[in-house]
Amino acid sequence: MNNVITSDCKKSPGVIVPVVNLRRCEGKADCAVVCPEKVFEIRRIDTEDYQNLGLLNRFKLRMHGMQVAYTPNADACRACGLCVSACPEKAITLIRAG
Ligand code: SF4
Ligand code: SF4
Repeated sequence: MNNVITSDCKKSPGVIVPVVNLRRCEGKADCAVVCPEKVFEIRRIDTEDYQNLGLLNRFKLRMHGMQVAYTPNADACRACGLCVSACPEKAITLIRAG
């Protein structure tokens, strides 16, 4: 089990990274708002990721404007856990990098 959720500690960047479950994400950006390290970017889902979703998830995503959270600055994550707490869909997991 390599899932790690922490609360108050500030780890060095690059040790822990957030992973977004695109089957759950609704792209409403709570994570991007709370993240102090600007890890997240809310944008249109990539075609390949969209095609990897099941029919129900594709339908749900279309209802949410095809927007999801990506983590272009995942290396900046300090594992504060704010994004995990803020995500209403429980779509974010913190894992060890690498
Ligand atoms: S808070 Fe959760 S559901 Fe909302 S955009 Fe971020 S990962 Fe997706
Ligand atoms: S754990 Fe903290 S620093 Fe890392 S992505 Fe989430 S909000 Fe940003």
